[in-house]
Amino acid sequence: MADIAILGAGLKGLKLAHDFEKKGHRCTILESANQVGGALISKRHASGYLTEDGAHTFLMNAQSIESFIHSIPGLSETLIEANPASQNRFILRNEILHAIKPKVSSIIKSKLLSAQGKLAILKDLFAPRMDRDKDISLHDFFEAHFGKELADYLLNAFIAGTYAGDPKKLSAEATFPRLVEYEKTKGSILRSVASKKKLYNSRIISFKNGLMTLPIAISQLLENQPILNCEIQHIKSTQNKWEIAYRSPDQRSIVRSFDRIYCTIPAHKISKLPLEPRIQNQLPNFDSIYHPPVAVLSLGFHNSQIKKPLDGFGYLIPELEKQNYLGGLFISSLFENRAPKDHQLFTFFIGGARSPELAIDDKDQLIANTLPSIQKLLNISGSPTFSYSRYWSHSIPQYSVGYKNTLKSIEAFESAHPNFHFSGNYRGGISLADSVRTL
Ligand SMILES: Cc1cc2nc3c(=O)[nH]c(=O)nc-3n(C[C@H](O)[C@H](O)[C@H](O)COP(=O)(O)OP(=O)(O)OC[C@H]3O[C@@H](n4cnc5c(N)ncnc54)[C@H](O)[C@@H]3O)c2cc1C
Repeated sequence: MADIAILGAGLKGLKLAHDFEKKGHRCTILESANQVGGALISKRHASGYLTEDGAHTFLMNAQSIESFIHSIPGLSETLIEANPASQNRFILRNEILHAIKPKVSSIIKSKLLSAQGKLAILKDLFAPRMDRDKDISLHDFFEAHFGKELADYLLNAFIAGTYAGDPKKLSAEATFPRLVEYEKTKGSILRSVASKKKLYNSRIISFKNGLMTLPIAISQLLENQPILNCEIQHIKSTQNKWEIAYRSPDQRSIVRSFDRIYCTIPAHKISKLPLEPRIQNQLPNFDSIYHPPVAVLSLGFHNSQIKKPLDGFGYLIPELEKQNYLGGLFISSLFENRAPKDHQLFTFFIGGARSPELAIDDKDQLIANTLPSIQKLLNISGSPTFSYSRYWSHSIPQYSVGYKNTLKSIEAFESAHPNFHFSGNYRGGISLADSVRTL
């Protein structure tokens, strides 16, 4: 049995503790906030609206994740799947929202791309096998396979909506390693995807009281409850062990020795950990990982204000459309129980790597900046009857071109310090599904 310290009680830290406890280890989670969940913060407001500060949807994309969720007592009953109409995602082009399903046939049928743009997609079928000696951007990778129009409209919008990112800056091999592997082994991405047997029918899920239900439920299963409001005072290496001093919530200073440390705190906070100087000096340059700012704006409207409701997941805005936000989710159409009777809740995302200057911590200004476009595109009249916003100064880590070097420096640190592991969303994927993958 190993004594393991886990820094951070986000989804990643909690799932690690759960898996280690199952293997018979003892885990102590040290969490600086006063609650578990990290980027998962769900709030039921007095008005009846249920908002999320961070993640809004969980793509359950593996049987192991589904089994894990169903193994937690009481969780299955609160799980909700997205309305099937959510298959539709709208993309803005020339002031028209085009409905697209995540299938090539749907892109071909829609009017989002020109005939030329559609034809360019097919050039991927003839793409030669390629082992690139240099990392390229996601934009360049998609343009090479599917043409510029798809890269400019679909990829650009999708990456803004999922990574708050700019595909011209993100690394193809670090962000979508599987696609780069397909290019290497088969050439064509479309032929590679078609040849893969579908092992699992992915679904978008949440919970009746929001996504925060999941970290709370995992933490309740743990033998050792996370230590909240915990301030780490020092971390030292001592004869094959790690010594951590921390201030407990009742202000006592505690010094404990651990066999292993798993650090799951966000990358931009790692350099501030009070590591002994010898170790601090060897840390990878986590501060170089860009986390763009994002503002999340939730707005509620009465049904009578919405002239023509759109059925779907939400809409995304490509950069070329020159709007001052990234898009929005039709959250109360996606999941039941998000808005009071006869009302609808929408969530809009502002800023990201494409336009960081637009993410601000000022709800009224965010509304002033975005409402005219929202009203026009969604056929909504009047002011919102409910509003709520959350500003993230550091949202999602960007796996920028050349990110492999960052990953290599993390591996080098771990080799030099075998019982110190880094395990955050800056490695192995940023999604919630990536965070709960079994050890
Ligand atoms: C605005 C936004 C929208 C998103 N939307 C989606 C989405 O719809 N779907 C999706 O799949 N993913 C989404 N994501 C990404 C996803 O939410 C995150 O990648 C995931 O939640 C990260 O989990 P984590 O446990 O690795 O980190 P975190 O959730 O960041 O948890 C880290 C924990 O470490 C704690 N901590 C920090 N410093 C210290 C310290 N010094 N000592 C101790 N503890 C510390 C923090 O308080 C926190 O609890 C979104 C992220 C953001 C920000």
